[in-house]
Amino acid sequence: MDAKTLAKFKKILLDEKQRLLNNSKNALKHELALSPDDLPDETDLAASEINQNLIFKLRDRERQLIAKIDDALKRMDEGNFGICEDCEEPIEPKRLEARPVSTLCLSCKERQEHREKIYA
Ligand SMILES: [Zn+2]
Repeated sequence: MDAKTLAKFKKILLDEKQRLLNNSKNALKHELALSPDDLPDETDLAASEINQNLIFKLRDRERQLIAKIDDALKRMDEGNFGICEDCEEPIEPKRLEARPVSTLCLSCKERQEHREKIYA
């Protein structure tokens, strides 16, 4: 994959990650605003607990997606982005366009889904 295409995907991934993080932050602010009286008095302790809560409260789907984005960015650094993890062939460009976090090419993905259906 050429550097220009790679840079394009990197931007898409970073933008999407930022969007997810903002979403979660906004959702949290909203929740906190609803119940300020529930916050503990010890502000230092509270701050660290809120931080922990923030991590836990990221909605599951978003958290998973962020992890996938981080993983894709890591693969970019390693030079493996766009390469199927299973057969090590390049992933179809159209598939990457639709879903930049893809780690499997279409046929490997279909095989995996087929397996999951059998063993689910
Ligand atoms: Zn494959």
